[in-house]
Amino acid sequence: MSERRALVTGASRGIGAAVARRLARDGYAVIVNYRSAEDAAAEVVANIVAAGGEARAVRFDVADRVATDAALAALLEDDPRPIAVLVNNAGVVADAAFPAMEWDAWEHVTRTTLDGFYNVTRPLVMPMVRHRWGRIISMSSVSAIRGNRGQVNYAASKAGIIGATKSLAIELAKRKITVNAVAPGLIETEMTANVPEFVTKQIPAQRYGTPDEVAAVVSFLASPEASYVTGQVIGVDGGF
Ligand code: NDP
Repeated sequence: MSERRALVTGASRGIGAAVARRLARDGYAVIVNYRSAEDAAAEVVANIVAAGGEARAVRFDVADRVATDAALAALLEDDPRPIAVLVNNAGVVADAAFPAMEWDAWEHVTRTTLDGFYNVTRPLVMPMVRHRWGRIISMSSVSAIRGNRGQVNYAASKAGIIGATKSLAIELAKRKITVNAVAPGLIETEMTANVPEFVTKQIPAQRYGTPDEVAAVVSFLASPEASYVTGQVIGVDGGF
């Protein structure tokens, strides 16, 4: 049995599913979080188990603080093994030109990404401190760094992740807990299904990235070898 657990939020598909599979391969018992896609999350778990790994699916909405608190408390109580790796991956888009951006679109995106960071990370920090080891890795985006038309809500949330990451990294550095962000460019998932063709042409690599290419960077940041890397934002964007 794995000695350490890893929680990946939003792991029922896309980048999160690839990260869950990769961390299971790296030897973690993986908690596959999802919000609604129960069958897809069960399939991710089944794939991991079929490959000889350990995983379980756990439903909670990261934007719901009370529900997240309860789910995390149960996870910490159920199993004595530490949740040593947290990957804040759950994210949503609700794009619109800013004058047409309704409050719902602003709130949905900021609550999932930014409040989600608070809701999931805070309850897991003190247990990591007590175990004297931890890795917190959060998905930002190239949109946070360059900005992107129609994504004022999304870019603001993902830029918030960068500020939160850098600040928390400073707070936790002497505790053997590293805190980093990954900033993917365009990765082939459901989220990018409707990106117009001309955008692809602007990517120097001339192609989308794959979820596995993002998972490889997360795997490195989660590894013992990355022990002196903290407060960083690692782009995975084909030069974008
Ligand atoms: P997808 O839309 O393919 O998958 C999103 C995942 O997040 C799903 O598993 C979904 O679960 C879950 N999710 C959404 N909201 C919540 C919530 N409130 N609570 C728990 N889980 C939730 O996204 P990607 O795989 O493309 O993206 C993953 C992350 O990477 C996101 O943070 C995204 O912003 C970021 N990113 C993606 C890029 C890309 O090009 N794809 C580029 C840059 C950043 P369910 O279906 O069960 O609701």
